[in-house]
Amino acid sequence: MSTPPIYLDHQATTPLAKGVLEAMLPFLISEHGNPSSSHIYGRTAARAIRAARGQVRDLVGAKSELEIVFTSGATEANHLAIVGVALAARPTGGHIVTTVIEHKSVLAACQRLVDHHGYSLTRVGVDGYGRVDPAEVAAALTANTVLVSVMHSNNEIGTLQRLAAIAEITAPRGIALHTDAAQSADCGLLDVAELRVDLASLSAHKLHGPKGIGALYIRAGTRITAQQTGGGQERGLRAGTPNVPAIVGFGSAAHLITSDAIPPPTRIRALRDRLQDHLLTSIPGTTVNGHPIRRLPGNLSLTLPGIEATDLLNRLTGIAASTGSACNTGSGEPSHVLTAIGLTRDQARATLRLSIGRTTTRADIDHAADLITRTTHALTPDPTSAA
Ligand code: PMP
Repeated sequence: MSTPPIYLDHQATTPLAKGVLEAMLPFLISEHGNPSSSHIYGRTAARAIRAARGQVRDLVGAKSELEIVFTSGATEANHLAIVGVALAARPTGGHIVTTVIEHKSVLAACQRLVDHHGYSLTRVGVDGYGRVDPAEVAAALTANTVLVSVMHSNNEIGTLQRLAAIAEITAPRGIALHTDAAQSADCGLLDVAELRVDLASLSAHKLHGPKGIGALYIRAGTRITAQQTGGGQERGLRAGTPNVPAIVGFGSAAHLITSDAIPPPTRIRALRDRLQDHLLTSIPGTTVNGHPIRRLPGNLSLTLPGIEATDLLNRLTGIAASTGSACNTGSGEPSHVLTAIGLTRDQARATLRLSIGRTTTRADIDHAADLITRTTHALTPDPTSAA
């Protein structure tokens, strides 16, 4: 009877595309083979994985499908990239560089190298838009630096980084460059050749594929040690029987993006700007976080004056969105990204992340703008005085 809430949380996860489900179904129903088996069932599964690997290769602009290693998601890909590359280069006492606004899975992998492998770590800061200055990365490098990890786009504020400029610094010194691109591939923003990164982490559920599957792009020639060993799958870099239906779904989702005739980022950006313009006008004192232009097209992180974002979301039952980021929800701690760009604790707690995606309609945007405005005004009867 009641209509479902408007989904404005595409950066947390995206709905499975119909075509993706259809591609997966045979591998959940009848094609149950293990790709390592030599009989027809196994060969069918192996062929499907090969095709999906090619589709993911095309999504990121890799030279060869052999540069794609399937993992359980971007968390695992980040871990494999950071720990695997660091330990291959220098088992102990090396140095790595990352940023203060990375996803927790990157920060945790870096911390593991510090805690268990005697590594030192530099976390480079960001400006008020959440941008890393390549000169600061250059200044952080030491003779022992083996890896730099800088996210392609931020999951909370959407800011895009200048990776090609960072590659100009790392490549001549032979330092591997990794990027967490979990949020970027849906918009067709990721091209590993253009960015000149050596490793890139991906997650299928951020691009209308299934959850629990992702990949690490590893440029040919990059030295890396496996973090999960066993049966030698994925060219020895990630042991375990592959999740065939999920891999097929990931490939299909990648293909849906690369074969789009009209690039959806344009449409998504127009909807995001419409929502942004409406809310900035209707709720005086509201500010937008992240870079005004160099930002993911669907991202809208807003600090609303004088509210608690959790209170607002609890009352906004007609909308599914996040405070700061879904990953921080429930921890009670203000987001490390929002504090890194200079927000106070109170401002961070007053921050709402709305993320628009391919399934969002103009009617959703107009309805959401109206609901957010009315609910915010109800929480702060005189919003101008609360600014
Ligand atoms: N990195 C970023 C930037 C993300 O947004 C996410 C998902 N929230 C991850 C890594 C983790 O991805 P997964 O859920 O596939 O492990």
